[in-house]
Formats: sequence, structure tokens, C-alpha cells
Amino acid sequence: MALSSNNPLLILGGGLMGLALAHSLAKQGRTVEVLSRRRNEAAGFVAAGMLAPHAEGLNGHLLQLGQASLSAISHWVKTIESDSGIQCGLRECGIVVPFKKIEDRNIYPTAYLGEKLNQNELKEEIPGIASHWQAGLLFKKDGQIDNRRRLMRALEKACVELDVGFQEGVEVLEIIQSQNTFKGIYVRTAEGKTKRITAKEAILCSGAWSNQLFHEIPVSPVKGEMFSIQGPKGAVKRIIFGPGIYLVPREDGLIIVGATSERNGGFTEGLTPAGQAQLQEGLVSLLPIARSWPHMERWWGFRPCTPDEAPILGGSSIKGLWLATGHHRNGVLLAAITSQLLTKLICQEPLTKQEKNLLSPFKWNRFKPKK
Ligand SMILES: Cc1cc2nc3c(=O)[nH]c(=O)nc-3n(C[C@H](O)[C@H](O)[C@H](O)COP(=O)(O)OP(=O)(O)OC[C@H]3O[C@@H](n4cnc5c(N)ncnc54)[C@H](O)[C@@H]3O)c2cc1C
Repeated sequence: MALSSNNPLLILGGGLMGLALAHSLAKQGRTVEVLSRRRNEAAGFVAAGMLAPHAEGLNGHLLQLGQASLSAISHWVKTIESDSGIQCGLRECGIVVPFKKIEDRNIYPTAYLGEKLNQNELKEEIPGIASHWQAGLLFKKDGQIDNRRRLMRALEKACVELDVGFQEGVEVLEIIQSQNTFKGIYVRTAEGKTKRITAKEAILCSGAWSNQLFHEIPVSPVKGEMFSIQGPKGAVKRIIFGPGIYLVPREDGLIIVGATSERNGGFTEGLTPAGQAQLQEGLVSLLPIARSWPHMERWWGFRPCTPDEAPILGGSSIKGLWLATGHHRNGVLLAAITSQLLTKLICQEPLTKQEKNLLSPFKWNRFKPKK
């Protein structure tokens, strides 16, 4: 049942999770206000857009959550496309994981879910792949979405069409609570003024910065650098997911080359010579021919990482404060299921047994020392 309320629900952060939740809650009739510090710093504008629960080698509850999201994504994207009029570039293009030794392939965590490729089959899937790659796994159901150029814009437009309120350039400074109940927030406005916003409910969607607002959750930044090259259209059809390097071919021949994983630099911004060199070496070691394809763009961003590299979803120690953060390397994949489950929780719709099972491993307090 759609819930209607004039009391706005605040979304703290206008990145991928913030927009996905604003959209799904607005569709349920909720009045939603997104507070966003800096649009372009969102990892949603950075990510490669792989939908890769199998190629990433996920396991256990996170694999189940990823598979559930992969199943939900087509319907989710259709809704966004219809609300925004923007196509999001969702493609079930398949992902190939190459290996230098057959033994490495056989012990890959998700090997049992993939199609095993010998070297000839690998070369058929990836024409031009370097000859030191001896074997592969093909995950046909994994795919991609064009998050940077399409999905994020489509979500923004869909939200605007549904009358979601946006406060851009606004920094949330502090969460206000009394007796473990959410009361509102202090913000710094785009004009530099501090003001209080009173509300009964909010969702913390502040990505890698989430711990700055809610200290009880261990979310920290893992920086990723990327670049893109322009290949001939159709030269690479499948995503190639090598160790420490991946190539994501868009339909128009643009190839996203990613990504570094820098854990100790905090929020240090900018590209590094070492990071860019690592990507270039990785590119040539996978696909030597791509050495001569022109470079287009270089960029970086921060993944929101938790100690077990899985998201934090659901309620918190503060009544009225919901959490949707910590999605680390799989936020694009997990956005569909995150918005579906959190929207049901917040709108007090009954969850199915399967949905409860999907959610329960990702509670915020799993990191607290057991007494
Ligand atoms: C290099 C790289 C490659 C990736 N590739 C993939 C991929 O291929 N597939 C995949 O599934 N995932 C990928 N990811 C992960 C994915 O991008 C993230 O998990 C996802 O974007 C997280 O979404 P989020 O909304 O939590 O955070 P973000 O998208 O980062 O949004 C957080 C927002 O909160 C705002 N904010 C923070 N603090 C405040 C504050 N105090 N006040 C107001 N606003 C605030 C920020 O400005 C930002 O806009 C990648 C990430 C990176 C960095």
C-alpha cells in the first residue's frame, strides 16, 4: 500500500543509493528531500557499471544479495527509463574472467557457476587477448549499465518528474537525536549558513563519507582510479575481468579501464602516476592491441568500504535513521535490491521470508564486538 505523508523524509547524500531510494520512495507516494553536497564526487558517477556478482567471485550472503539484485535490475531500469525518458544502457553482455593457469580457474570461488573456457575458446570470446592467458570462465548473465553517462542522469530526471526535492551544495554537518530518536539535521547551505532541518526520518546514503555523520558504522574510503579509451565499435564484446584490471566495453566502442584499489590514502583526491601506470600495464597485459587506441578521459572516486566489504542495510540505533551504505565495489549491482528492500522497510510493507533472509546478514551492528 502506498504511504503518503507531508513530512519529508530526508536523504543524506545524492549519490547512487540516495537517488535510487528517492526514486522508489517517491513512487510509493512519500515526500522526499535529497540533500547533496557535491554531485560529481558521488561514486555513482565514477563506477564502471559492471553487474558482476559471479565474475567478482562473491560468495555467501553477498552473492545471494547480488544475484537477487541482478534478477531485479531489468524491471528496476525499465521503471527508471519510463519515468525519465532516458535509456540507461543496460546490457547482459557477459563477463569473461581470464586465468594464466587452468588450476587458478578451477579454484575461483564462483567457478561452479561459470562456463569453463580453454585457451581457444577464450580467444574466440576475446579476440586479441594476450597469449599468456590460458583459460577462462564465462559468466553469461553478468553484464553492465552505463551509470556515468546515463543511469545517474536518468535517476535524477525520474526523481524530478516525481517531485522529489533537491538541495544541492548542502553539506549535512550533524545528525540530531534525542533519546535515540531522530530529530533532524544541521546543514551548511550553499551560501555558507548553518541551519537546522527538523524531520522524523532520514536515510544515510553518504557513501564513503557515511562514518563522518554516524560514527557507529565502520565505513571507510577505498579510492579507485580509472581511464577510458576509444576502441573500434564492436572490437570488444564481453567485459574482461582480469586480476586487478578490467575492461568494460560500451556499445559505442568506449572502453572503461579500471580500477585501482587504494586503501590507505583516506580522501586524498586526484590521479597518481603509479595508479595510471598500473592501469596502462594491466590493459596491455590483457589486450595488447588496445595500446594504440586513443585515451579519452581519466577520473577517480571513493568506494564506501566496510570491514567485510558488504553493505549496511536497514535500521540503526537511532529510531527514524535508516542506513543504506557501505556497498564498496558492488553498489551499481546492488542499487536495485537496496532500493526495493529499504523502500518496503521504510513504508512498513511486509517483507517476504526471502526478503527478510536477504536483508538480515547486513545489519549495522554486526561489526560491534559481541558481549
Ligand atoms: C572506481 C570505482 C569503480 C566502481 N565500479 C563499480 C562497478 O563496476 N560495479 C558496481 O556495482 N559498483 C562499482 N563501484 C561501486 C559503486 O560506485 C558504489 O558502491 C556506489 O556508487 C555507492 O553509492 P552511494 O550512494 O553509497 O555513494 P556515492 O555514489 O558516493 O554517493 C554519496 C553521496 O553522498 C554525498 N555526501 C557525503 N557526505 C555528505 C554530507 N555530509 N552532506 C551531504 N552530502 C554528502 C556525496 O557528495 C555523494 O554525492 C565502483 C566504485 C568506484 C569508486
